[in-house]
Parts: sequence; structure tokens; C-alpha cells
Amino acid sequence: MSAQIIDGKELAKTMREEIAEEVKKLADQGVVPGLGVVLVGEDPASKSYVTAKEKACEKAGIYSDDNRLPADASEEELLALVDRMNEDPKIHGILVQLPLPKHIDEEKVLLRIKPEKDVDGFHPFNVGRMMLGQKAFLPCTPHGVIQMLLRSGVQTKGAHAVIVGRSNIVGKPLANLLLQKAEGRNCTVTVCHSATKDMGELTRQADILIAAAGKPEMITADMVKDGAVVIDVGVNRVEDSSKKKGYRLVGDVDFEAIKEKASLITPVPGGVGPMTITMLLYNTLESAKNHMNGSSK
Ligand code: NDP
Repeated sequence: MSAQIIDGKELAKTMREEIAEEVKKLADQGVVPGLGVVLVGEDPASKSYVTAKEKACEKAGIYSDDNRLPADASEEELLALVDRMNEDPKIHGILVQLPLPKHIDEEKVLLRIKPEKDVDGFHPFNVGRMMLGQKAFLPCTPHGVIQMLLRSGVQTKGAHAVIVGRSNIVGKPLANLLLQKAEGRNCTVTVCHSATKDMGELTRQADILIAAAGKPEMITADMVKDGAVVIDVGVNRVEDSSKKKGYRLVGDVDFEAIKEKASLITPVPGGVGPMTITMLLYNTLESAKNHMNGSSK
């Protein structure tokens, strides 16, 4: 059996068209959703993510306020910029691209963003509300995964979801969302990490296997049950002299081998990545709607 590929690019395109339509409606009523973007330094991966986010905003009709600070910018400078965007009525969402240079306290910066503009969903206020199942900005990658499952018609209710990775931006929030008693969720959830014993024993039980460890092709075919749905969040650069850039991107799963066993599988690139950016646009739109309706989340 060869798996059906979940085309993240196509799903993202559909969702971005839906978002663009809503943005237009809102703009016709006088509110143009706006995203404030900050990149500190020159990290190539961060630069390319930020550029992709800004382009996606433009295409969806979302105003983006693009800010670049040098790698040696002070914490005070960055906080002042966040304060300025917190007060700017044209900006409904603020995105500070991570990681930040070592001399800047990441937690302090994320806490400074007003929760009602925290479209990355990283502020403890939003994390807490999500955990309680209350209305909140959901973190973009986990929310993107949920949308992929939902829109691919995956039966999640009662399914055993096994997540490899427990980071604060992917594994933990995704486990929390999949646990919730709601459509496209309602799973029994197992979370694996670097101290997990006999991980294959657990991943082989997964109806839905989600890899988010950041280890190239660490999930091998023998770790996957026949017919499982496999979502690969990992994005890893591996050296490849045959490529112009000198590297290629691979996920955390051995795609070629596992696609012969899985029922559905996401590719890398073109899987979860485009959905992540889409959910950022979605949250920015939601924030602008909240602003218009006078609600602060
Ligand atoms: P982190 O490095 O923050 O977390 C990795 C997690 O994986 C940790 O919980 C770690 O365990 C666990 N882990 C690492 N190695 C192993 C192992 N050998 N066995 C079991 N568990 C392991 O990464 P992120 O969550 O930020 O990102 C994960 C991957 O997803 C990366 O490749 C990243 O590039 C990608 N990513 C993709 C996005 C997208 O849009 N497609 C968005 C965000 C991330 P422990 O806690 O014990 O250290």
C-alpha cells in the first residue's frame, strides 16, 4: 500500500484564499488586519521564515509592519519596539521571530507582547487559556497540524496519537489540543521525548504518529504501524553537494520507506510548514475581528 500524501501547500492555499476573502470583507468595513514583524540579526533560516510570513501577509491583504534590528540591538530597543506595536491600532498581531540573540531575554520579550496581540500564542495567558479549552490564540504549528487532520478527514475521536517531542512550541501544545474533547481532536495521547524508553514500542501503537524532534529521519519504517497517519513536523537541513545551496531539507521521518506503510503522510517540505504560516494569518485576522468587536480575547 502506498500512502496518500497530505499536500500541505494545497491545503494552505485553500485556507489562505478563505482568509483573504475575510480580510477583504473586514477591510471594506474599515479594518485592515495588521501584523508587526520583528527580526533581530541575520540568521538565514529565521530570515527566510520572516520573508515568507511577510509575503504571505501581502498576498492575503494583511498589512505588515516589517522591522529589522541588528544582531547587537539591545533588549531595551527591542522592548521599545514591542511597546510601540502594542499601542499601534493598525497592528493586531505581533510576531518576534525566535530564536533571539543570547544577550536578549526571550521570556521577557514574549511577556511584553499584549496577550490580545500575541498571534504566535506563546504568551502564558494564551497558553493557559488553551490548556483550559477556552478561546485563545493557538500556537501556529500545532494548530496547523490539527487543521491538516481535520481537513484530510482523519478520524481522530478515540485514535491513539503518539507525539515525538515535548517542546513548548510544538509537542506540548499539540498534545494538549489533541486531548481536548472537540472535533478533529479527542485522541488518547502519548508523548515521547529523549528519556523515553523503547520508543518504537509506543510509536508502533500510534494511529496518528506526529514527529517533532528535529532529528533527520529518526522515525524508521519499523517504528510505524500499517495504515497509520504520519505527520512530519521536523525540518532539518542535511548536507547535499548535489544541491545548489549545498543542503536539502528532510523531515524527522524516513518518508520514502514509511509512505509504503502509512495510510496518509505529510512531505517535507510542503507539509506542515505552509500550514504554520497560514495559522499565523488566521490568528491575525481573528485578532482584527476581536478588535472590531471590542473584545480583548
Ligand atoms: P526542540 O528542539 O525544542 O524540541 C525537540 C523535542 O524532541 C524535545 O522535546 C526532545 O526531547 C525531543 N527529542 C529530540 N531528540 C529525540 C530523540 N532522539 N528521541 C526522542 N525525543 C527526542 O524542537 P522544536 O519543537 O522547536 O522543533 C522540532 C522540529 O520541528 C524541528 O525540526 C523544527 O525545525 C521543526 N519545526 C517545524 C515547524 C514547521 O512549521 N514545520 C515549526 C516549528 C518547528 P527532550 O525534551 O527530552 O530534550
